[in-house]
Amino acid sequence: DVLLDVRGLVVRYGKATAVDGVSFTLAAGEVLALNGPSGCGKSSTALAVLQLRRPDRGEVRFEGRRLTGLTERELRRVRPRLQPVFQDPYGSLSPRHRVRDAVAEPLKAQGRWDPSEGPARVAELLDRVGLDPSYGDRLPHELSGGQCQRAGIARALASDPRLLVLDEPVSSLDPSIRAGVLNLLADLRDDLGLGYLFICHDRAVVRHFADRVIEMRDGRVTSEWSPRPPDAAL
Ligand code: ADP
Ligand code: ADP
Repeated sequence: DVLLDVRGLVVRYGKATAVDGVSFTLAAGEVLALNGPSGCGKSSTALAVLQLRRPDRGEVRFEGRRLTGLTERELRRVRPRLQPVFQDPYGSLSPRHRVRDAVAEPLKAQGRWDPSEGPARVAELLDRVGLDPSYGDRLPHELSGGQCQRAGIARALASDPRLLVLDEPVSSLDPSIRAGVLNLLADLRDDLGLGYLFICHDRAVVRHFADRVIEMRDGRVTSEWSPRPPDAAL
């Protein structure tokens, strides 16, 4: 069940080629990591998959649909199904909006807000990511980095996604709370059958978390490996 099919992706910044013909597929329920040194093109690949930056060449297919051919207007309808989670936990939440509103906003924007059920849905999403629903009253800066990353994941889940594009989601978190967030992500993948494109420069994290790893260097895929046989226990 192929969720994402990326073919010959090229991303240029002016004359510099950041991504130089990257291809891969990702199945539903799979964690595919992009690993490699800083500057090798991981984030640029993620942005191009999300169509937050249109690739210069190549194709991105998501659930069989060619995103690279869609207009912005058409993309708006697909976007909820592929959601980003970025490195800066405070970056995905607007600083002046309470957590409750940040999680409710995708539901409202997508016309799925029912005033009689919405607040309970928000509470359920917060609970799902391990936040007490009372945290809904807080502003992002009143949360720790880990709590804030969890709130950002709740906001992503509100869109009912099939794919999360996670760009270094635990790299700026305190090492002591990384495992908790990774365990949450593993549970969500298992429960919801989500696919993850997991950008991570840390090989220890990748080895622990990914089903399959693509190594990148200078904008290209140099190798592919699996940390463990699929379905083996952690
Ligand atoms: P990684 O995520 O692996 O660290 P990036 O995709 O961020 O790699 O960067 C790949 C290359 O593209 C690097 O050489 C980087 O300096 C360059 N780059 C990234 N973003 C921009 C940008 N907005 N403008 C110009 N160059 C960029
Ligand atoms: P401003 O608060 O600066 O007026 P907007 O409300 O126009 O900003 O939203 C700016 C961006 O923040 C938009 O991309 C929007 O999707 C996002 N956004 C809107 N409401 C929230 C919210 N409650 N939490 C997080 N992000 C939000």
